[in-house]
Amino acid sequence: AKALGRNTYSFFTKEMNIVIQRRLAIEAQLRGALDRHELELYYQPQFEIRKNSIIGAEALLRWNHPTLGNIPPDEFIPIAEHSGLIVPIGQYVIEQALRFLSKWQLSDQKSYTMAVNLSPRQLRDTELLNLIKNTLADVNISFGSLELEITEGVLMNGQSYINEALIEINALGIKLSMDDFGTGYSSLSYLRQYPFDILKIDRSFINGITLNKSDCDLVKATIAMSHSLGLTVVAEGVETKEQLTLLSDLGCDFVQGYYFSKPIPAKQLLDFSAALL
Ligand code: C2E
Ligand code: CA
Ligand code: CA
Ligand code: CA
Repeated sequence: AKALGRNTYSFFTKEMNIVIQRRLAIEAQLRGALDRHELELYYQPQFEIRKNSIIGAEALLRWNHPTLGNIPPDEFIPIAEHSGLIVPIGQYVIEQALRFLSKWQLSDQKSYTMAVNLSPRQLRDTELLNLIKNTLADVNISFGSLELEITEGVLMNGQSYINEALIEINALGIKLSMDDFGTGYSSLSYLRQYPFDILKIDRSFINGITLNKSDCDLVKATIAMSHSLGLTVVAEGVETKEQLTLLSDLGCDFVQGYYFSKPIPAKQLLDFSAALL
């Protein structure tokens, strides 16, 4: 039993070591990633379902490291959040995304929107709202063109500074979006408590809508409820024509997903959207 115990222990630590080593390597490399210009924003266009036209885009961060390769945001964002690096990285994201939005709006002469993801730590940063206000003024973009996406994780601990930040965001006319709706436990009560404008139905529900009735019923009910609360509904992860048709029948407002376009670099989005004008 002793030998087995020891084996189990050493196996466990070996596995743990690999995970911890990778995490440490990512954190160490992430510290210099901004300065080395390894972080780049990609943009995924969002479409108005009925008119089939682009209404805006979501900014999604990409990290291409010279030796580690492409590290997915699902892996490095939590590390950035934990280490506090998300604050400077998030500032970079906001500045880049709004600068691009300004260029895009001018180029197409359309009042496109830009959705930016925020993690919990960023809302604790007292400089965040100043940076947003200054950048919007700098690039001459109206407050209503910016959407901030948060998940219910941001709201979970109910800190008062979060509430205050969300109230100020709302008062400025910046749009507030609930991301990954349906994946948490308390999304519904948060919708009532905080000034949301937009609800994004999580990809995991959109996946199943044409396959099983319960997913379809859930999405249908979510859209109806959102509209009765005055919220705009975005379906994320739309991959097929069948999903799109069904979402249109269910009265969904906006869609984004691989069916239309993956997240793409700025230059590519400019070409893509100009071709649809
Ligand atoms: P998210 O905000 O839920 O973003 C949607 C994710 O779904 C993106 O993954 C997007 O590329 C992917 N996606 C979009 N359409 C489809 C589709 O039709 N099919 C499939 N299978 N996937 C689709 P991505 O870019 O890997 O980002 C993952 C997550 O990382 C994001 O989830 C967000 O939570 C986080 N993230 C990305 N960029 C940022 C950022 O700048 N700041 C913060 N705080 N988080 C970010
Ligand atoms: Ca998002
Ligand atoms: Ca999402
Ligand atoms: Ca997500």
